[in-house]
Amino acid sequence: MQPSIRPAAALLLALAGGCLAACSDSEDHVRPSIIILTLDTLRADHVGAYGNQPAAGSPTPLADRLAAQGVVFERCFVPRGVTHPSLASLLTGKYPATHGLRRNGFPLDARHVPLPVLLARAGYHTAGFAANLDRSRWPFWVRGLEVAEDGIEGRLPEEGYGQSHVFQRVWDERTVTKALRWIETLPREDAAPVFLWVHLYDVHAPYTPEPRWLEHYSVPGYDGPFRRPTVREGESEQDQVTTLIDAWTLGRASFTPADLEQVKALYDAGVRGCDEKLARVAAALEEKGLLENALVVYSSDHGDELGDHHDYFQHGNSIYDGTLHVPLIVSWPGKVTGGRRVAGLTQNLDLFPTLLQAAGLTPPPDCEGVSLLPVLLGETEDSGRSHVFAEWEDLIFSASDGEWKYIHNPKGAQPRCPPYSFAENVGFPYECHELYNVAVDPREQHDLFAKSHPRAISLLLWVERFLGQPEHRNPLAPGGPADEELAALGYLGSARSEDRVLTIDCGEER
Ligand SMILES: [Zn+2]
Repeated sequence: MQPSIRPAAALLLALAGGCLAACSDSEDHVRPSIIILTLDTLRADHVGAYGNQPAAGSPTPLADRLAAQGVVFERCFVPRGVTHPSLASLLTGKYPATHGLRRNGFPLDARHVPLPVLLARAGYHTAGFAANLDRSRWPFWVRGLEVAEDGIEGRLPEEGYGQSHVFQRVWDERTVTKALRWIETLPREDAAPVFLWVHLYDVHAPYTPEPRWLEHYSVPGYDGPFRRPTVREGESEQDQVTTLIDAWTLGRASFTPADLEQVKALYDAGVRGCDEKLARVAAALEEKGLLENALVVYSSDHGDELGDHHDYFQHGNSIYDGTLHVPLIVSWPGKVTGGRRVAGLTQNLDLFPTLLQAAGLTPPPDCEGVSLLPVLLGETEDSGRSHVFAEWEDLIFSASDGEWKYIHNPKGAQPRCPPYSFAENVGFPYECHELYNVAVDPREQHDLFAKSHPRAISLLLWVERFLGQPEHRNPLAPGGPADEELAALGYLGSARSEDRVLTIDCGEER
């Protein structure tokens, strides 16, 4: 079975699609199908191919199989550790400071053209299925998609939100079902290439895995507060996980090392459930012969702290690498030699030019990503990046050269996303300057700034150059939905904009 289009058919499709100019650099290019599989909140070091091999087995058999067939980018970092800004960077090839979607719920300005639009113009059939991205409230991701479906039906309270987080699995299952139905509609032979993106949610807190995976990954013999052997529809006992870890963060409870190990086991169990669902999507594509010339990406939008700093487990307040370091695995049978690992720095916005070039298209000139196609094809081992950048809105910034990471917090901001938004006069603490040797301290446990390492100066200058570029000078613009609306949806907790940060004294820089 040969699903890929022949060169002549590719040209005809390009002409029929009216995209001759966009495709003219590669009229005879046999375009691969492009499949993006993302798990919300999956940090890299909890993927089997990145070293997570617990006694219960890797939680990511699909990722591990793709890694054996493809390339593992060992150091991929997102530029913002929350869902919408990070995914907007993946889709546009630009930093949040450029595309302007710097906080969940903000819009994506029409001048930033996302990947599916460009692929659709080139003759791709395009579809996206994203469990938690309500397409009517947050349509930033649907442009260019012939089919765009989320997993949410009805109003969130009716879905169980706030009563039992079982709803996350319901959304994921619905999303996969919709994706499988779409795949069934695809022809087997001589079809246009497809762009398919599937995004699942149940890795996200409050760590409520399917009961069978909870049983499988739970710490043997553990009988503490995070031991939840069963979850029944309508019950809220799993919500206690969030309540407990929030109390931990705020210093109102203390737990044992075994408790922490069990929370991470719950997380792994959620990863396994999502990976298995994505494997069903991959199997359906394979059964159709659609993986024979397909570039498959396995990644995430951000990770989770999982207690790395200040006993905080989630991601909305963090600019540390537990939140920023995501898996990036790319397979492409016949094009990419399997089993390779690339140590160079990458960012998720690099996928944008990479995938366009793989499709024979030229990235637009305002693209900020660096194409990884030469690395994928084995032409070089150099990912082309000297630094990676991240922000917490327009207040806190970080840059890393792969050996050292510097955090610049010129206004002394202390973010107050949940659980801090419910507490008095406390936020997620940052110093005004922090410096880590991430080569030997990847979890950023030892701040070396006080030793005034010269590396901090060079990274500070790099950050200032980055922020000084005209496209990065934008303050956080208004334009998002009302805080009350997001709070009602559970996205911001109860934090109002004016309450989202505290500040500490940074002396002259404040
Ligand atoms: Zn997310």
